[in-house]
Amino acid sequence: MGVLRLILGDQLSLSISSLEDTRLAKDLVLMCELSDQLTRVKHHIKKLAFILSAMRHFASELEGNGHQVAYSKLDDETNTDDLKEEVRRTVKQYKAERIVVTCPSDYDTLQSLAVWEDEFGIPIEIRDDTRFLCSKREFQQWASNRKQLRMELFYREMRKKHSILLEDNKPVGGKWNYDSENRKPPKNGLSIPKPYVNKPDQITRDVLKLVIEKFSSHFGHLHPFYFAVTRTQALSALKLFIDERLISFGDYQDAMIEKQPWMYHSHISFYLNCGLLLPQECIDLAEQAYEEKKAPLNAVEGFIRQILGWREYVRGIYWMKMPDYPNENFFGAKRKLPEFYWTGETQLNCLHNCVSETQQNAYAHHIQRLMILGNFALIAGIDPIQVNEWFLIVYADAYEWVELPNVSGMTLFADGGYLASKPYAAGGNYINKMSNYCEKCTYSVNKKSGPDACPFNYLYWDFLERNRNKLSSNHRVSMMYKTYDRMALEKKESIKRESSNFLDSLD
Ligand SMILES: Cc1cc2nc3c(=O)[nH]c(=O)nc-3n(C[C@H](O)[C@H](O)[C@H](O)COP(=O)(O)OP(=O)(O)OC[C@H]3O[C@@H](n4cnc5c(N)ncnc54)[C@H](O)[C@@H]3O)c2cc1C
Ligand code: SF4
Repeated sequence: MGVLRLILGDQLSLSISSLEDTRLAKDLVLMCELSDQLTRVKHHIKKLAFILSAMRHFASELEGNGHQVAYSKLDDETNTDDLKEEVRRTVKQYKAERIVVTCPSDYDTLQSLAVWEDEFGIPIEIRDDTRFLCSKREFQQWASNRKQLRMELFYREMRKKHSILLEDNKPVGGKWNYDSENRKPPKNGLSIPKPYVNKPDQITRDVLKLVIEKFSSHFGHLHPFYFAVTRTQALSALKLFIDERLISFGDYQDAMIEKQPWMYHSHISFYLNCGLLLPQECIDLAEQAYEEKKAPLNAVEGFIRQILGWREYVRGIYWMKMPDYPNENFFGAKRKLPEFYWTGETQLNCLHNCVSETQQNAYAHHIQRLMILGNFALIAGIDPIQVNEWFLIVYADAYEWVELPNVSGMTLFADGGYLASKPYAAGGNYINKMSNYCEKCTYSVNKKSGPDACPFNYLYWDFLERNRNKLSSNHRVSMMYKTYDRMALEKKESIKRESSNFLDSLD
């Protein structure tokens, strides 16, 4: 008789709270591959392979460290494919005295644990997920004192609390935020380092075979498969970023170049979100690079803000807004998600590139997600439920706690401004400034109307006009209404007509 310690698929950290006081000789760790969970959302096939391989490697690492592990594989005959049933079976077999688990990252799984104690007749202890730098309680306290929640203020508190980039309690360099230096457009001849590549070992090769057999109808390409699947490998990927890319992370954070999906970003979100990396160690290595003068302040501060600021902030918002968050639809957007989000087949070159790279890599960087894929969904008025479903399926780093606030809050403004102060809507000019996609596009970014005008140009104004009653009082948008109101009637009519024709053609 001992403790049953449940490890979920995104809890692959040796330092996770549920393992803290393990008695190796007595306790049992349970891990389960559940096809129900892998297919309820039809995840990108590369993501499935990544998670399954990382889970199997983690189980073998636990065993190597002396843990007793019960592991249900997808194709085990005894696998019931249901988390509760797998726990029930193991509790009975092993005569467990209690269950310990770290709080699941999503609302529904946490709710489902509520009945276990009664059903199994043994205590269940749900521990805080201490891998995050701000607990749910702490975030709620911070939020409860404020009329408006803004990431920047939260981030400053976190910098102070964790003593990050501080000198005599003041921000290093004199400013909290160097974002204004981080918007350089791409220039020709940038030398972008090659991304981290890991060669699949036998465990990964078995998983690749399995997912092809079971999940070949899922979105995306499985090969080539290059993700890190162990902590040691994920640490190598992090180190490669710090050594080679961090130096330019800030300058080109918002830039997009055709056939350069990785740019100077870190590509560590998949590892952070399943627990192979911890946020604190990523922040520490970046700060150290600054102290050793290996990377400039705008890059280091920008990178740290994403992890210490945005990542923690969106998690706090998720838990504050659940369970109603998925149904929010401030603009009442109803349009169906266009088919090209699945196929990449569209004449809009920016969207074609971002969807194709997503199919290939299960990755797109932040500005591709926000200002191309998300911006289009926003200004075309696509139903938030469908947009959320797409984002949750296609990215290897997608988990509801981080995907939903980014999509419904930051991108679609579906929460009416709880997370962001204004919608991130933009016309073709922004995309042309920050990328080279327009050079090879069928549409002309400089044309505002006519059959070859860039659709982002008229859809942007049409979006504002369609939602005037919701947005005109927002002081960050009101200037744009003044510009629209000064346009000639004929121009306004052409915006409306061309938008309506274009949107009809999507259906
Ligand atoms: C529409 C949309 C959907 C998104 N969906 C997800 C998602 O499902 N999962 C996810 O992890 N991120 C999501 N993001 C945030 C961000 O785009 C990704 O974290 C980032 O692109 C991952 O790539 P990277 O590791 O190279 O990040 P970098 O640009 O190198 O940033 C470093 C790290 O900071 C963190 N980070 C940066 N921005 C954010 C953010 N807005 N929210 C939370 N963490 C952030 C990530 O952990 C990331 O690994 C989404 C953003 C948008 C606009
Ligand atoms: S012209 Fe418009 S549609 Fe084409 S790539 Fe540029 S922004 Fe995208």
